[in-house]
Amino acid sequence: MLTDNLKIKMNRLSRIFQPINVIPKNVQVKSQDMTSKSQKLMLDLGIIRQANSGCFHYLPLGIRALEKLKNLIDQHMQSIGAQKVACPTLIHTNLWERSGRIQEATPELFQIKDRHDHLYILSPTHEEAITDLLTTVSPLSYKHFPLRLYQITSKYRDEMKPRFGLIRSRQFLMKDLYTFDVDLDAAKETYELICKCYNQIFELVGVEFFKVLGSSGDIGGILSHEFHFQTDIGEDKLIKCGNCGYMGNLELCGNKDKCLKCGSTKINVFNGIEVGHTFLLGDKYSKPMKATYLNNNGKPNILQMGCYGLGISRILAASLEKLSTDQELRWPIKLAPFKILIIPPKFGSKEEKSSSISIENLSKNLEDIATLKNDVLIDDRVQMTIGRRFLEAKQVGYPFIVVLGQKITENPPLFELNNLIEGKQHFLTENELISYLKQKC
Ligand SMILES: [Zn+2]
Repeated sequence: MLTDNLKIKMNRLSRIFQPINVIPKNVQVKSQDMTSKSQKLMLDLGIIRQANSGCFHYLPLGIRALEKLKNLIDQHMQSIGAQKVACPTLIHTNLWERSGRIQEATPELFQIKDRHDHLYILSPTHEEAITDLLTTVSPLSYKHFPLRLYQITSKYRDEMKPRFGLIRSRQFLMKDLYTFDVDLDAAKETYELICKCYNQIFELVGVEFFKVLGSSGDIGGILSHEFHFQTDIGEDKLIKCGNCGYMGNLELCGNKDKCLKCGSTKINVFNGIEVGHTFLLGDKYSKPMKATYLNNNGKPNILQMGCYGLGISRILAASLEKLSTDQELRWPIKLAPFKILIIPPKFGSKEEKSSSISIENLSKNLEDIATLKNDVLIDDRVQMTIGRRFLEAKQVGYPFIVVLGQKITENPPLFELNNLIEGKQHFLTENELISYLKQKC
């Protein structure tokens, strides 16, 4: 049923590097450091592996999920005309002296010295670097604006106590977008556009999110919003007014008893994980760093800026935190490492002997569905029982698990389809299976 035909490219589970912690004797993280279920499940199920405190290896399944999220974000950034760049991670502290931010720098800023005794930071954010880039080419003509530049790179924070796995780590992946406009009105329009774009991204990820008025924190500026997932381990306190629906970060609202907007006392407080942040910066960086443009009268003017972050590795982990049970991972369908797992019968079983189904053809027919290209995995460890492989598949959380069980010997053969998102099981012919998955994926 499962031939070793190397001409047909299939994704086989036996060839995937996924060290699963079956028996917790080989504990890589002390149990008191295991602070969230997403962290525990991602480590136990071979999605990530801890390298050192607050730093992780992404294993093949983990990186597939991460790449899917990156692609989704890339598409959305490019749909609003943002261009991808990459700034260096090592930033000379001179640059942060010019913006004045080095004086406010917290112990969380990684600083290192090179062999010439020059001090650098491992940049957690790039407002200075990108503004300096614009300064060095200033003044550009007004015709070049709006200009939107973004990057997806690793960022660094020297956490006192890294925790929750990828949620509060010392190295993390972020998308940061910097926008430049010729005046504040245009910058506000850009701000609205990007907030709308963020809404679309989070809707596609499919985890319930909240957009609240934010605190500007160390970055500063005129206006800011935060995007949060609500979970118990969230370290931000958010408030929601039961009367007018106003939402805000408690840190900013100050007063816990009354709604800032309508004065109602029907206030709910809950925990959120910040997964995105938007800032309308105005000229906070462009003015001291002299990033200018030439207006239509040929006079130099200061550029107006915005900056917009998405915590990519954090969104991934926080989604798992929100959707999973204590024992089983559950992925947003758009981010699952593979959308479909096929479990063929055990080698030598009655099902294997009496069925003429070709796994190669089934896999190919499923991958022919546009949304399933390269998204079908076969659990070819046919020396193991179906039951054991199914248990593991449920733990890893492939959204759709197709089992070739007892009914595969019927006429016509029926496939057992397990939809983990809806918690439903169906028995379907191959044609029904294909049209079902076409509709759901
Ligand atoms: Zn209110």
